[in-house]
Amino acid sequence: MTAPERKSLLAYGRDEWPAKVAELGGKPFHAKIVREQVLGKGVLDYAGMTALPAGLRERLSAEVPLWSGVEVARSSAADRTTKLAIEFPREGARDAVVETVHMPSLDLDTDDEESRAGATLCVSTQAGCPIGCPFCASGQLGLSRNLRAHEILEQYVRGRALGELSRSVVMGMGEPLLNYKALTEALDAVHDEMGLGNRRVTVSTVGFPERLRAIAPTRPRFQLAVSLHTPDDEQRGELVPAMKGVPVEEVLAAGDDWFQHTGREVTYEYVLLGGHNDTDGHAQRLARRLRGRRCTVNLIPFNPVAGSPWQRPTGRDVERFRAALEAARVIATVRWSRGVESDAACGQLRLRRTQADSATL
Ligand code: SF4
Repeated sequence: MTAPERKSLLAYGRDEWPAKVAELGGKPFHAKIVREQVLGKGVLDYAGMTALPAGLRERLSAEVPLWSGVEVARSSAADRTTKLAIEFPREGARDAVVETVHMPSLDLDTDDEESRAGATLCVSTQAGCPIGCPFCASGQLGLSRNLRAHEILEQYVRGRALGELSRSVVMGMGEPLLNYKALTEALDAVHDEMGLGNRRVTVSTVGFPERLRAIAPTRPRFQLAVSLHTPDDEQRGELVPAMKGVPVEEVLAAGDDWFQHTGREVTYEYVLLGGHNDTDGHAQRLARRLRGRRCTVNLIPFNPVAGSPWQRPTGRDVERFRAALEAARVIATVRWSRGVESDAACGQLRLRRTQADSATL
């Protein structure tokens, strides 16, 4: 059973926060200090905000919890990846346990000083996911609910408490474009108050063409990644069920539009499922579709989920696929999943917890 919800600091939002601080006897500049301390400096305890009067610190501690959520599980891997499962209670709403993953950089070859030293945070936008990809643990559970803006933002604050934060991918549980208003509200604070630049945040979507076309002219403050997974219409309906009936070519055309409006190339994500979508034919058909387009392909060898019928491809097969794209002048990179031994695939920590909960019922 979840505890009754108390309104947390971030739940007040930028506009209403000064009024709350005034109610507790503080001034507008005190309200500003609190947000600067939490979002800008990572001070996660009112007692440590020594620029505030002692009485105000005490009243804040008593009345405004810092967190909305509760960390209910944590796992770490040998590569220093840390995965948190956070429960966000909400009265009258369904279970919302989401995952946030902090991945310190392993890319020691990069020229980018900040990336070499930093870490990437993977955040969730929904509890569960309505898209239903059969190779994904989140897809197996369906959608519980959309996260609120402050619940998305809280993942950033908790993630930064685990270590350096230089990049973010909105690639955890959920489909970001189905909770877009909350996402952009959270990202505004991430950009403006946490200092993570527009090019350091990537939002990953299954690529609803009409939604992409609607938001591209607004020049959103993030890089776009579209999960494609196959060049074939029929197979995409199987691998990304919510996109059944939407031709791959239409998704790619919306990606072209995105580039025209924003000047930023789309990355196409492609989970390689051994023996299923990683054949030479798939590589050739994908290359034909993408040749001449301003984009990059990110190949992600599948990370097996317990009980899944899908296989992880061999290193040789992954390289063969990448080389076929490159031969057709399509830029392709490979991203091996991080923290394989600690449930690093999307939704696995939450799935395991849910299964454990069901087993004890
Ligand atoms: S892979 Fe992404 S879009 Fe597909 S079910 Fe999982 S979270 Fe949803």
